[in-house]
Amino acid sequence: MPPIYMDSHATTPLDGRVLDAMLPFFSEQFGNASSRNHSFGWAAKKAVERAREQVGSLVGARFRDIIFTSGATESNNLAIKGVAASAAHGRKHIVTVCTEHRAVLDPCRELERQGFDVTYLAVDAEGMIDLDAVREAVTERTLLVSVMAGNNEIGVMQPLVEIGRIARRRDALFHSDAAQAAGSVECDVDELGVDLLSLSAHKMYGPKGAGALYVRKKSPAIRLEPLLHGGGHERGYRSGTLNVPGIVGFGAAAEIAASEMAKESARVAALRNRLWDGLRRNLDGVDANGSMTARLPQNLNVRIEGVPGDALFMALDDVAVSSGAACTTATAEPSHVLRALGLNDDLARASIRFGLGRFNTEQEVDYVVSKITDVVKRLRIG
Ligand SMILES: *Cc1c(COP(=O)(O)O)cnc(C)c1O
Repeated sequence: MPPIYMDSHATTPLDGRVLDAMLPFFSEQFGNASSRNHSFGWAAKKAVERAREQVGSLVGARFRDIIFTSGATESNNLAIKGVAASAAHGRKHIVTVCTEHRAVLDPCRELERQGFDVTYLAVDAEGMIDLDAVREAVTERTLLVSVMAGNNEIGVMQPLVEIGRIARRRDALFHSDAAQAAGSVECDVDELGVDLLSLSAHKMYGPKGAGALYVRKKSPAIRLEPLLHGGGHERGYRSGTLNVPGIVGFGAAAEIAASEMAKESARVAALRNRLWDGLRRNLDGVDANGSMTARLPQNLNVRIEGVPGDALFMALDDVAVSSGAACTTATAEPSHVLRALGLNDDLARASIRFGLGRFNTEQEVDYVVSKITDVVKRLRIG
């Protein structure tokens, strides 16, 4: 069997329908969406505005409130640093969670160096935050609360609706990184009560290098200092010539996700459950990292007792999954998310993150179950 891809949290393959939508914008339709004087520019602009509607519609947003970016890393930076740079009323406090993605934690660290206070909420052994701790942390000094919609390692979904209510009660802004959740579970900006929402195209079968930040229209308006100054694109929030093919692909991916989400999420959850049931049936000492209920349908993360992590991943040569060691750096540091759950370094290293997706099959799941079973049994004897 060729390598089986089960790492959809890292990136998803491009859907063929998305590629078809993008192709003309690499060739005949190469115009700059800001060129106002000819049809090449108008065609590009029209395609971008259509994508803005497609992306907005996926998350229940007015299309004007969608700002295109290069991905969720940039969207998170724009949301967090942008709000901080125009900090209203001298508010200098941010509340976030210790299991957030680096693209949230690192901007927060940077703001600490600039004199902001940041509260990093802890999580319990299931990966969930305590709403009482949120109530305690958010005060009249809090500028922004940032809590991701679905975790990229353990798939955990925090209670965003309640967190949003707490933020609003204190007039704090509420941001969520929905790079993993959008397109997989319902993420409606009004239902969730978010003011800012980060999205990434390549986590929903779109192209890499395209993303968006939703910015709620409010009065008074949310003040957001841009990261990039230049031609004033994207209503001044994000200067730079638009990545038209990427944005068109993002739009197509969002439209497909919106129309197929209900069916696809049920199918992917069934594959995930088949994988989980198979592993538990065949092996002792296999436990889930993170809540199995408040969880993205495409995610499974398991720790396996009694096997060294490096040998485990070495032996899984034809299955593309991620280990519990940080994937972001060259070092094999155990992930900050698994540590936050209380795992020791050995169990974190012997944890496997599975990201299932649109193109996985039952046969692949069954192969992966038997492969892991064989490898673990062999390593435990050896
Ligand atoms: C992938 C990911 C990001 C980064 O998104 P890019 O578009 O690759 O910059 C941020 N947050 C989460 C939760 C992610 O899964």
